[in-house]
Amino acid sequence: MLTCNYLGRFAPSPTGALHAGSLATALGSWLHARAHDGKWLLRIEDLDLPRCIPESDKTIIQQLSDCGLSWDGEVEYQSKRSHFYQTSLSQLIESRKAYACRCTRKQIEDAWLAKGFKKQRHQELIYPGSCRDRQDVVPPSAWRLRVEDATLRESVGDFVLKRADGIFTYQLAVVVDDALQGITHVVRGADLLDNTPRQIYLQQCLAYPTPQYLHLPIVLDENQEKLSKQTLALAIQTNSSENVLKALRGAGLHLGLTNSTLFNQSDLSVSQWLERAIQNYKGMIF
Ligand code: GLU
Repeated sequence: MLTCNYLGRFAPSPTGALHAGSLATALGSWLHARAHDGKWLLRIEDLDLPRCIPESDKTIIQQLSDCGLSWDGEVEYQSKRSHFYQTSLSQLIESRKAYACRCTRKQIEDAWLAKGFKKQRHQELIYPGSCRDRQDVVPPSAWRLRVEDATLRESVGDFVLKRADGIFTYQLAVVVDDALQGITHVVRGADLLDNTPRQIYLQQCLAYPTPQYLHLPIVLDENQEKLSKQTLALAIQTNSSENVLKALRGAGLHLGLTNSTLFNQSDLSVSQWLERAIQNYKGMIF
């Protein structure tokens, strides 16, 4: 583990190439780390294999490296770190902070229906706690965190740490990795903001420190939707320095960089652009 006063990270899921939105997050997180003379790790979050696109980790790595967004240490893959997640889950199970659950989505919906509550389209249902006090749940089961905090309980309920198909969830993996890697600052998109209270709560359950969080504004398309693979966001092109600078300028503009040479001076190399962007960013945050 690297030890450092500032240790940041970029943690993309390999579900496609970087687009203007994910590049803005990468650049913001990188600038924040470099402006603090910090280190910046790259972690590929490839736990949910059915959602991953083969080889897109390599594309992301190539795009970051073409953009000069250099990382420290080796690239970590969550798919190789399951033993860490299992150790933390076992710790939660032993301390009775996690419990087994075999409820299906349909059963959860039915439990709410029985209480007279009808699910709206796209609404995430809070788990009603049906298995919370059961001792007879047999494998294969999911594992849920026993959430005792009243606000969190009301807003998200007992959330899943490991799915019944054996896949560890994003919430558990991200908390374990941030702690074991010694991450001090998490800079990521505002679309993940509502996950943060869950992650802080889980850190407390596992007696992990809480890093500092900064959530960056997300890039929206003309329909005011988050750029994503689902909304057919285009991959950024990084095959020439003109294209790299074009992509970096777009990301820099989105992050609110103001130094006019970043946007107007056409003879800057990628590394000169990044150096100026760090100075510009420092002026914005210090
Ligand atoms: N892997 C997550 C994503 O690509 C980001 C995780 C994080 O930054 O906490 O949306």
